[in-house]
Amino acid sequence: MVSYPVRGEQPVVVEALKVWAVPEGSHDRLLEFLKLYRDAVQLVVNELWDLDGKLSRKKLHGMFYGKLRKLGLRAHHAKQIYTYAKSIVESARANSGRKPVLRRLSARIDRYDYKLDLDTMSLTLKLHSDNGFRLKLLAPRERVEKYREWSNYELVVKYDDESFWVSVYFKRVVESVKPKTIMAIDLNFDNLTLAVFTLDGRVARLKRFETPLRKILIYRIWIERTQKRYPKSWRFIKGVRNAIERHGERIRNISWDYSHKIGDLIAELALRHRSVVVLEDLEKLRDNAKKGREFNKKLTLWFYRRTQFCVEYEAKERGLKIVKVNPKGTSSKCPRCGSRLVDTGYKTLRCSKCGFTGDRDVVAVVNLFRKYASKYSRCGGLGVPPNAPKPDENPSGMRGNKDEAMKKHINLYKPT
Ligand SMILES: [Zn+2]
Repeated sequence: MVSYPVRGEQPVVVEALKVWAVPEGSHDRLLEFLKLYRDAVQLVVNELWDLDGKLSRKKLHGMFYGKLRKLGLRAHHAKQIYTYAKSIVESARANSGRKPVLRRLSARIDRYDYKLDLDTMSLTLKLHSDNGFRLKLLAPRERVEKYREWSNYELVVKYDDESFWVSVYFKRVVESVKPKTIMAIDLNFDNLTLAVFTLDGRVARLKRFETPLRKILIYRIWIERTQKRYPKSWRFIKGVRNAIERHGERIRNISWDYSHKIGDLIAELALRHRSVVVLEDLEKLRDNAKKGREFNKKLTLWFYRRTQFCVEYEAKERGLKIVKVNPKGTSSKCPRCGSRLVDTGYKTLRCSKCGFTGDRDVVAVVNLFRKYASKYSRCGGLGVPPNAPKPDENPSGMRGNKDEAMKKHINLYKPT
């Protein structure tokens, strides 16, 4: 399940429908095609691996199109193959640094090379030597119905030594919502805080949700301790390994459950307020350890990513715009004068220069909003809100709303 905005205006939602596929008759030709496809990808990978620098699409085409066609592949197969090979090489370079060796049988097929009939659930593929290889797709009716109004574009066929699987990619253009407010979201270890700002900088809504990170951490600590106790052998003692896997499973379940619920909830709220959703750019977070927390940084970051992914997905599906801003300084700078804030005790920050005092999470969302506003303002539009916080008050009426956040404090983990 992925979603991304296409260049231009309209946001697009993409989903994959993965189904079991049974060839009509012998599967020999399909298997032969998958092997040819894999070897062709490998051939391109091998050649690209020895080259330095980036290759343009045009250059790739020039280098490989002819070669691939000579192997008997169709025009669109060739394009898919060199594009795919290029992405494999790039990600291998960035990760392991070892030349990838492909073993699995899988092929990405362009929409021009297949026909899909959702009524009869039949799929016809154009292979290298067969223009009408037919497969029957097996999936419950209701799973497929959803995609009737969507458009399909490419698919992936896989063979796992037993059966064939097909993932069809569907996309749908969503009506984009014209923004009327800005919702800034700050995620830290204990809380997710969100504030909805009007275009002139007033806070219309403030909410805080507890994260399940403390709970997750308990499982994580258990795993680490156990691995330390059996440093060499934990992988080989079945009972220990199973227990570790179970704890890992719990961590994944808790965070998926949380991120799905919170993503849905936030997106609904953002839709009601017609908000642009402003998130922290986690890529910019790598070096400045979020809020100075050293402990289990990796797990925390993984959790943030997952939560953001769901928020983004749900928001895009509703036609809302997402903007990411660099979170640097958002939890340490005074939202009024920009000086450094000092921690004065549990979650409260104080500016030594102008005397501003505020809740840590609230300071963060106000600063995120300001970053967004300064980045996207044109000629005094958003940049200088006419009712920006004055020196003698908390940021724009924050005081009253802060109580709302406290009262409505919701723990998604203990549903009442
Ligand atoms: Zn200040």
